[in-house]
Amino acid sequence: MPIRVLSPKVASQIAAGEVIERPASVVKELIENAIDAGATSIHVEVRQGGRRLMSVADNGCGIAAAEVELAFARHATSKLQDVSDLEHITTLGFRGEALASIASVSQTTLITRTAGEELGTRLRVEGAQVVRNERCGHPQGTTVRVENLFYNVPARLKFLRRDATERKHIDALVTRYAMAYPGLRVVLENDGRLSFRSPGSGALLDVLIEVYGLEAAQQMIAVDSGLGAAPRAPSNASIAVTGYVGQPALHRGTREQITLFVNGRWVRDRGLTFAIEQAYHTLLPINRHPLAVLSVTLPPQEVDVNVHPTKSEVKFRHRDAVFRAVQRNVRETLLANADIPSAGPLAGGTDWAERRMALSGATQHEMPFPRQEAGYRTSLGAGPQPWFPETPPDPGKLPPLRVLGQMAQCYIVAEGPEGMYLIDQHAAHERVLYERLLAQQATAQVAVQRLLEPLTVELTPAQSEELETWLDPLLKLGFEVEPFGGHTVLVRAIPTTLGRIDVRQTLAGILDDLSLEQTPLADEIDAKMAAAACKRGAVKAGQTLGEEEMRALVRQLEETTSPRTCPHGRPTMILLGQAWLEREFGRR
Ligand code: ADP
Ligand code: MG
Repeated sequence: MPIRVLSPKVASQIAAGEVIERPASVVKELIENAIDAGATSIHVEVRQGGRRLMSVADNGCGIAAAEVELAFARHATSKLQDVSDLEHITTLGFRGEALASIASVSQTTLITRTAGEELGTRLRVEGAQVVRNERCGHPQGTTVRVENLFYNVPARLKFLRRDATERKHIDALVTRYAMAYPGLRVVLENDGRLSFRSPGSGALLDVLIEVYGLEAAQQMIAVDSGLGAAPRAPSNASIAVTGYVGQPALHRGTREQITLFVNGRWVRDRGLTFAIEQAYHTLLPINRHPLAVLSVTLPPQEVDVNVHPTKSEVKFRHRDAVFRAVQRNVRETLLANADIPSAGPLAGGTDWAERRMALSGATQHEMPFPRQEAGYRTSLGAGPQPWFPETPPDPGKLPPLRVLGQMAQCYIVAEGPEGMYLIDQHAAHERVLYERLLAQQATAQVAVQRLLEPLTVELTPAQSEELETWLDPLLKLGFEVEPFGGHTVLVRAIPTTLGRIDVRQTLAGILDDLSLEQTPLADEIDAKMAAAACKRGAVKAGQTLGEEEMRALVRQLEETTSPRTCPHGRPTMILLGQAWLEREFGRR
């Protein structure tokens, strides 16, 4: 065949194919236009999975009569002028392709009116040809009705799936936008029946209740990095991470329920999805995936949105910083709020006051066997149980626990209102030391213990190289360390908080641990250092603890802000719930 230039009609249908893959693509472009137009309310109507009709009505700014036809021209947009504008796009659309593409493969009617006009405009376009342009009444805003998609492109029509499948794609898309814009009132009607509505209250949780149901929504935890807490990208650009993540117990079989928005745009991003899954590390059973709805907000020049025809993929200028911000914020949220891993449900069902009453009312029984020690009865006796507080602890906090003993020289066994706790003594002590050190660092009041004589420590070449990076944070933590030629260092003082430690082993151990860290963010360095130091300073498994020591440790743990995990994210305790015990013993 000779080379020929394609006719405009064929060319436009080919171009349309890139943007409009299936009915859901049309709905996506129309909703984006409505949002860009400042709409607060969007009504979507779909018939036969979108084949027959997709209509999107908004109460946005509308299009002036003189510009309506122009809006359908390819590369006609009000959102961009110059290539340089691409660097700070704040609208969802910018290519000026959607209306042109939609109109070239369907029969489209657009009705619109701006605030300044008395009469609106109705434009009918069939396969890119304007067939009618007339004035008509319409409330302020725009309604676009797309009928008979692909009526003139049989090849495409053939590839559409069953109505139910196309409908599912549309449902997913509409709910995503409702979640990305909780302030938007969204209504979706399928074949004349209401199938989704979001209240537009501005609260994401209200939308989540509509999307996932009340029960699941109640198991979602808010993530809010705030601006101050956001780690900085190398360019000093702040990255905010907000939204909701599911309790680990809410896991699913696929990654489909991880929904991501970047600057208000729904995106697919394997890296960020992975970052979220990483944050659940050790919290989920293998091959299970979390539920999450997260928005990442960063300065527009930090993201390239112009990399994919449907704009559903983006490129970050500082990928790692975004990745870490997401992972860190989700992880911290989970650690602060996730339930204690437990065998079976917690006390479940009964409320706090009721349980307290039940336990307090326990009657004394004469034991049929001799009592071994005086005071044996005290814990069984009637009357208020001193360890059972009147009100439940704040979320994330521990109730007071009563130490019963030590097991395997590794776990502290304790009783709490909800059942029996097994506490990992090393992890618990790490948590206590870690929060103390961080608090001291934050107030620059590190308690330091001078050694009677400076101690020389011989490091390996790898350790001494590592020391160069970490010397300052070490000093800040309370280790007065001074290079002494070669790989030898002098240690003059150590942090008091760590107690009696083997200085040589501790220093070497810290440096070994830190060598495994990828270069952390500036504001994470102190925390990493403190975590490494605690790992070395905390009591070890295998150490026998006296009752007083155990009680002191548990008291200290109760006072920490995140008592449930060690600084490395492992649980400090496991709860064997009262209800679980009862079931296992066949009591109910
Ligand atoms: P883009 O969104 O990339 O600019 P479109 O083809 O989707 O391109 O739309 C072209 C133009 O038509 C937009 O730039 C906007 O000015 C106008 N427009 C489209 N939809 C609406 C709407 N719902 N309300 C107001 N203006 C709209
Ligand atoms: Mg658009």
